[in-house]
Amino acid sequence: MPELPEVETVRRVLTEELVGLDITDIDIRYPNLIEGDINEFKNNIINKKICKLDRLGKHLIFILNDGALLSHLRMEGKFFYVDNDFPINKHIHVIFKLSNNKLLCYQDVRKFGRFNYRSLNDLYTTPPLNEVGVDLTINNNYSINDIYKKIINKKIPIKATLLDQSILAGLGNIYVDEVLYEAHINPNRLSNTITLEELELIINQMKIIFDNAILNKGTTIKSYTSSLGVIGNYQNFLKVHTKSSCPCCKSTLTRVKIKGRMTYYCEKCQR
Ligand SMILES: [Zn+2]
Repeated sequence: MPELPEVETVRRVLTEELVGLDITDIDIRYPNLIEGDINEFKNNIINKKICKLDRLGKHLIFILNDGALLSHLRMEGKFFYVDNDFPINKHIHVIFKLSNNKLLCYQDVRKFGRFNYRSLNDLYTTPPLNEVGVDLTINNNYSINDIYKKIINKKIPIKATLLDQSILAGLGNIYVDEVLYEAHINPNRLSNTITLEELELIINQMKIIFDNAILNKGTTIKSYTSSLGVIGNYQNFLKVHTKSSCPCCKSTLTRVKIKGRMTYYCEKCQR
């Protein structure tokens, strides 16, 4: 599943390719990927210029000359920027035709991805973006006490709380394991036992790991390969996720499911 560093990598590549182009037509082959009325969606987007690409958490934001197109890749969504004779496979569900005669194809084997249109005025005050918590790679103005208040009432494992995008945005199953390892916190710990100092550690590690993963263009593993000619290298820096022994104390890592997600941690180093 693409997490914040992978979505940021997609944003950077698409910025180079798409800014300045107009969307001249859209072919929607699987309408359920679009939220709202399909014809309204098309009318709002066709003949608009792509001015900029932004991101908040795992949401990709195409800023148009009027309005914004939002894309969430969810489990397996990917974009391909290709010539107009590209063979369209059955997993390509949305095709944006561009003013330079190229195509932006959206492929999604599991069809969990979503597209929305929002006016620029409503962009950050309506779902989905008003539901996104603090994105540490964008916002330096957050209050750690406000974040702590949201965590300290929860009687669920800290890993599950960190996967909740409405508190801290951007983590998915890979990076959350890495963050908790570096912060020396057991992912099963109930959120209401986390101290303010531990939350500070988590936040600092999130910043470091996101920065390094973005520098390395994200992680390429079985469940996520990029599509835009980018091969992420952060898999070479993972310390616990998918690993068998702790890089620090050499103990065998524990594997358990938390909230249905396979979790890797060290019983000795993470408390
Ligand atoms: Zn260890």
